[in-house]
Amino acid sequence: MTLTRLDEVTNVVLAPNPSPLTLDGTNTYLLGAPGCGEVIVVDPGPDLLQHRQAVDAAAAGMDATIAAVVLTHHHADHAEAAGWATDWGVQVWTFTPSFVQLPAAPLHDGEQLTRAGVTLEAVHTPGHASDHLCLRVCQTDVVLSGDHVLGRGTTVVAWPDGDMAAYLASLRRLAACDATALYPGHGPVLGDPAAAIARYLAHREKREAAVLAALAAGDATPAQVVVRVYADVDPVLHPAAERTVRAQLAKLCNEERITRALDPGGGESDSYRVR
Ligand SMILES: [Zn+2]
Repeated sequence: MTLTRLDEVTNVVLAPNPSPLTLDGTNTYLLGAPGCGEVIVVDPGPDLLQHRQAVDAAAAGMDATIAAVVLTHHHADHAEAAGWATDWGVQVWTFTPSFVQLPAAPLHDGEQLTRAGVTLEAVHTPGHASDHLCLRVCQTDVVLSGDHVLGRGTTVVAWPDGDMAAYLASLRRLAACDATALYPGHGPVLGDPAAAIARYLAHREKREAAVLAALAAGDATPAQVVVRVYADVDPVLHPAAERTVRAQLAKLCNEERITRALDPGGGESDSYRVR
C-alpha cells in the first residue's frame, strides 16, 4: 500500500491506475484531525479492489472510520469508486450530483463541510470539467486542486463539458486562494502554488498563440491543429489534446477572433479560420 502522510491532517493513498493522463495514478486523500477516529475521503478514485483494500487499510491504520466522501469532479478516475460510500454508510458530496450514478448531496461554491475535525471549503473551478471543485482545507490553507492543476505537466480542458475561458478564470481564482500548497489529483505536491499557476497561465497563452498561428498557416480542422501544435506531445495524448484544442477554438470563436466556416448545407462545419 502506498500511503503517505503529507501534514497533520492529510494522508494520501495512490491508486494503481497510472497512465499518460493520470500520471502515477489518482491521489485519494484521507483527511482527519489526529485521534478523532474519522477521516474524509476526497476522490476515492477508480473502483479497483486493490485500491479499496488500500484505502480501508489506511483508515484502519489511522484508527479511523470514514465520515464522508467528497469528489473534486465526476470523471471516472476520481469518482468511479464513489459507490464505496454506500458500504461505508456515508454521504457523497459533489458540485453536480446528477453527474454521478448514485445518490449524492450538492456541495456549492463557498460552502464548508466539516467532518473528522477538518473543514473543507468548496471553490468552484470549472474548466477541466464544469463541476470541478478545488477544496480548501481550512486548518492548513492547503488546497486540494483535483485536475485543475496537476503535480506535473498540464491538464486537459475536456470540451464540451470543459470550457477554456472558465478554466483561465478558475486559475486566477485559485491564485487568489493564496494556498500554502496544492495537493493535486495526480502527481506530487506543489509547494509554490503561485509559481505553478503562473506556469499554467503562461502555457495556455503559448498554446493559444500556437493555435492562432496554425490557423494562419492554413490548418482548418481541430485534428490538423493538433498535429502541428502538439507535435512535441506523445501521440497517445492527441485525442485529449484535441478536446483542449476544441475548447480553445470555442473560446476564440466566442471572442470573434476566428470564424467557423459553414458547410455547403449552410450548417456549421468543423473548419475554422482567423478573421
Ligand atoms: Zn483525473
